[in-house]
Amino acid sequence: MAAQIINGRKIAQQMREDLKKEVENLKSRGIVPGLGVILVGDDPASRSYVRSKERACEKLGIYSDNNCLPEKTTQEELLRLIERMNGDDKIDGILVQLPLPEHIDEQAVLLAVTPDKDVDGFHPVNIGKMVAGQKCFLPCTPHGIIQLLIKSGVAIESSDAVIVGRSNIVGKPLANLLIQKNSMGNATVTVCHTRTKNIAEHTRRADIVVAAAGRPNMITADMIKEGAVVIDVGVNRVEDSSSEKGYRLVGDVDFESVKEKASLITPVPGGVGPMTITMLLYNTVDSAKQRVSLKNGQE
Ligand code: NAP
Repeated sequence: MAAQIINGRKIAQQMREDLKKEVENLKSRGIVPGLGVILVGDDPASRSYVRSKERACEKLGIYSDNNCLPEKTTQEELLRLIERMNGDDKIDGILVQLPLPEHIDEQAVLLAVTPDKDVDGFHPVNIGKMVAGQKCFLPCTPHGIIQLLIKSGVAIESSDAVIVGRSNIVGKPLANLLIQKNSMGNATVTVCHTRTKNIAEHTRRADIVVAAAGRPNMITADMIKEGAVVIDVGVNRVEDSSSEKGYRLVGDVDFESVKEKASLITPVPGGVGPMTITMLLYNTVDSAKQRVSLKNGQE
């Protein structure tokens, strides 16, 4: 039987409607959640991501302080801007769009963002807290994947989950969240990468397969167990002369064949992507709520 499609856009929209109500509630208490956005250079994909994030903030009533800096911006200038945002009471979250130009040390920049405003969840303090199972800003794509699973009624607990990809922004943090002893975790997790001996051997026994390798159509139907849940994180451009742009976006999963075998599957686009921005908004609103607690404490 063909798989049910997990509609990431719809799930993200529902979450954003709930967040909008929370923003209105915060505003009634005198707090406008704010996101500081920094883009360096003019990479078209990064510009488009940043624009989507700004638009999403606007729709929810989140204030966004947008800074599009020229490619030649120095590391010192960038660090000064982050320092200003760290101390700005109107800003609850800071987002530095990656990748940064080569002359800027990405690690130094990510470290400069105060952990209290690190809504991307990339600061080592937040990563450490996540690993230890403490409250922190969770990284957006992995957290978005978990929310997709939960809201689609997938039993994560006691499942065998196999992740293909071990990047710092997707594979590693997702593996960590899935093994946590809480309602988002309790799975048994295997992480595959380019040195894994036989990836299919792992994916074939998985209840949940997450593909995050950035390789178009690498997960084929023969690699999937009947009835498995398949989450496709990959976003790959493939040439397509029939499209106006000359390309189309595909995931890491061979969608047409795998959907005949899986029980649930995410499409690309419209699966994980919309959840990533939603979880960024979620973290920003969460951070603004901390401001309310601080304000109440001072009263
Ligand atoms: P990345 O940093 O390039 O990491 C890719 C990972 O996949 C690496 O761990 C690599 O293994 C592994 N890998 C690559 N080819 C493989 C193969 N043939 N067999 C097994 N493992 C393989 O990528 P990323 O940043 O995690 O992103 C992965 C994909 O997700 C990309 O398509 C990206 O565009 C997409 N993405 C989407 C969202 C979203 O919101 N929708 C967010 C983030 C990323 P090694 O470590 O051994 O090199």
